[in-house]
Amino acid sequence: MAQYDYDLFTIGAGSGGVRASRLSASFGAKVAVAEERYLGGTCVNVGCIPKKLLVYASHYGEDFSDAAGFGWKVKEPRLDWTKLIANKDKEITRLNGVYRKVLDDSGVEILEGHAEILDPHTVTLDGKKITAKYILVAVGSWPLVPEFPGSEYAITSNEAFYLPSLPKTVIIVGGGYIGVEFAGIFHGLGARTIQLYRGESFLRGFDDDIRTTLAAEMLKRGIDLRFEADISRIDKVGEILRATLTDGSVIESDQILYATGRLPKTRGLGLENAGVKLSELGAVDVDEYSQSNVESIYAIGDCTDRMMLTPVAIAEGIAVANTLFNNKPTRPGYLNVPTAVFSTPNCGTVGLTEAEARQRKFKVDIYRTFYKPLRHTLTGRDERTMMKLVVDQTTDRVLGCHMVGPDAGEIIQGLAIALNCGATKAQFDATIGIHPTAAEEFVTMRSK
Ligand SMILES: Cc1cc2nc3c(=O)[nH]c(=O)nc-3n(C[C@H](O)[C@H](O)[C@H](O)COP(=O)(O)OP(=O)(O)OC[C@H]3O[C@@H](n4cnc5c(N)ncnc54)[C@H](O)[C@@H]3O)c2cc1C
Repeated sequence: MAQYDYDLFTIGAGSGGVRASRLSASFGAKVAVAEERYLGGTCVNVGCIPKKLLVYASHYGEDFSDAAGFGWKVKEPRLDWTKLIANKDKEITRLNGVYRKVLDDSGVEILEGHAEILDPHTVTLDGKKITAKYILVAVGSWPLVPEFPGSEYAITSNEAFYLPSLPKTVIIVGGGYIGVEFAGIFHGLGARTIQLYRGESFLRGFDDDIRTTLAAEMLKRGIDLRFEADISRIDKVGEILRATLTDGSVIESDQILYATGRLPKTRGLGLENAGVKLSELGAVDVDEYSQSNVESIYAIGDCTDRMMLTPVAIAEGIAVANTLFNNKPTRPGYLNVPTAVFSTPNCGTVGLTEAEARQRKFKVDIYRTFYKPLRHTLTGRDERTMMKLVVDQTTDRVLGCHMVGPDAGEIIQGLAIALNCGATKAQFDATIGIHPTAAEEFVTMRSK
């Protein structure tokens, strides 16, 4: 029988890699994880966590002015960007330490450096050869900036977390959730914010009512949101970035952030040495158990391009550990994966959109409400919350829940459990609401 240095060698100590490594070690496997940049990966360092901290920071902008309606007098509020970033960095460093401790405590060996695959059972780490029975590729993804004249002046979300100062004017290009969230962050912190998206409407794949409601709310707040707009070139004039749009118009700004997608970070990883099949965009081609076409090589998370979300990468990591070292072959479930967009206001969604349900030939009843949140009866802010249920007429099952409004992410999480249990509209209706909350609207919507 072949002898290897490790039972499992994980490349990448991000969301998926850390969970798979820890759990495999807890099942008795000898595990090492290689990390070339930062423990905790994208989510902890340049993703979910710092993003959410900046979202919290950005909401204070509105909160200070809304407070006046409740009788508060607040002197001219002023943002100290340097302090915000320093405090955020301190928390990220603390989390890096937590990840190190968690791996150490579970007996996983952390190897710092860039790993490359040599063959189905061998990796090199900064020149040193290491063998393993299984190799788990958990290398994540990397932002993509398309090439065009001046594209080198654009930044991505990676750099946005470390800017030396808050830009006075920022252009955000892209209509995915990252672009939308950064538009809310920069606008809320006080930057003049222009968001450009080349399509007809942003947040492709979300329910149309979410897309239109959020666009209206962002415009009302003063974000200069432009659809069917794109940059053709960027020129640097002194410190100013001059963006020429495809329609010939020009916008000047301090920063231009491209949030136009992410690619699996599989280049230069040596996957071709082992004969691992990749998609055209470099995603590792895996089966339902996250196994590649090479028996000993598995891949999870963003580099497989299934759903680029932290809890999904973690679920895939748990499944691989159970499959390989706990004698429980496990396929992660992708049904009713809830997601939130931490835009201003938030969006939350689970299940089928109305368009998807109709496309799948369901006969649907749509329940929808738009209302002014109680809080804004005193602030005077013109904000609407949208909530929507997509219901199968035949079985009465709730197929999808969608919301734009404060705390949408928090509210939708519980509804995802209900959908996974196959809840019907009648069961939603029979559930007593919590009053006065926004969430109660989901159990009190009566008219189609
Ligand atoms: C701005 C932003 C906001 C986001 N917000 C959310 C959110 O709110 N909710 C959510 O669910 N998801 C969010 N995501 C997505 C989430 O961060 C990713 O889906 C998740 O981190 C993927 O985990 P992973 O394990 O696949 O990869 P990662 O967490 O990216 O980890 C991969 C690790 O592998 C390392 N690595 C790569 N190549 C090598 C190599 N050759 N050798 C050694 N190490 C290597 C990298 O340095 C990295 O640490 C966000 C992403 C971004 C960019």
